[in-house]
Amino acid sequence: MVEEQNLPPQGQQNQQSLRDIQFMQAAYQQALLARNEGEVPVGAVVVKDGVIIASGYNRPIGKHDPTAHAEIMALRAAAELIGNYRLPGCELYVTLEPCMMCAGAMMHARLARVVFAASDPKTGVAGSLLNVFENGQLNHHTQVTGGVLASECSTMLRDFFAHRRAVAAQKKNW
Ligand SMILES: [Zn+2]
Repeated sequence: MVEEQNLPPQGQQNQQSLRDIQFMQAAYQQALLARNEGEVPVGAVVVKDGVIIASGYNRPIGKHDPTAHAEIMALRAAAELIGNYRLPGCELYVTLEPCMMCAGAMMHARLARVVFAASDPKTGVAGSLLNVFENGQLNHHTQVTGGVLASECSTMLRDFFAHRRAVAAQKKNW
């Protein structure tokens, strides 16, 4: 049941507004840039007052940097642009459910809202493994929306890993 896997975990909003879809399409374009560089295809954009102010894509291999996730790249670019490490009122769109590191960075940035596409049962902490955003003991609360363009973004990830496995198998047979 592939479709079911793409649904966001219960308790999250699943309203795909046109606005959310358009911004997620921009994040999808960023994910394509990652794919072109041989990185796991994840992309992100930061939106302030309805305008994209920064973007980023996953590039830990190319940058030799375990923290170079799409969200971190986009948050860094946005913070530099605004000249403030806090990004109140900003929204982040990302093609894959955030991991613990990125969720932490979003809280430090006082991000207003995060919107993600595909769920990540392995490292996702916006409802899959756990939901850190719902923790009542944290003093900042980031609103979460999951499942926007989920099937498009998870298809890109699935195709990427299938291709990588096929290449690895081919090498083995040599
Ligand atoms: Zn991450």
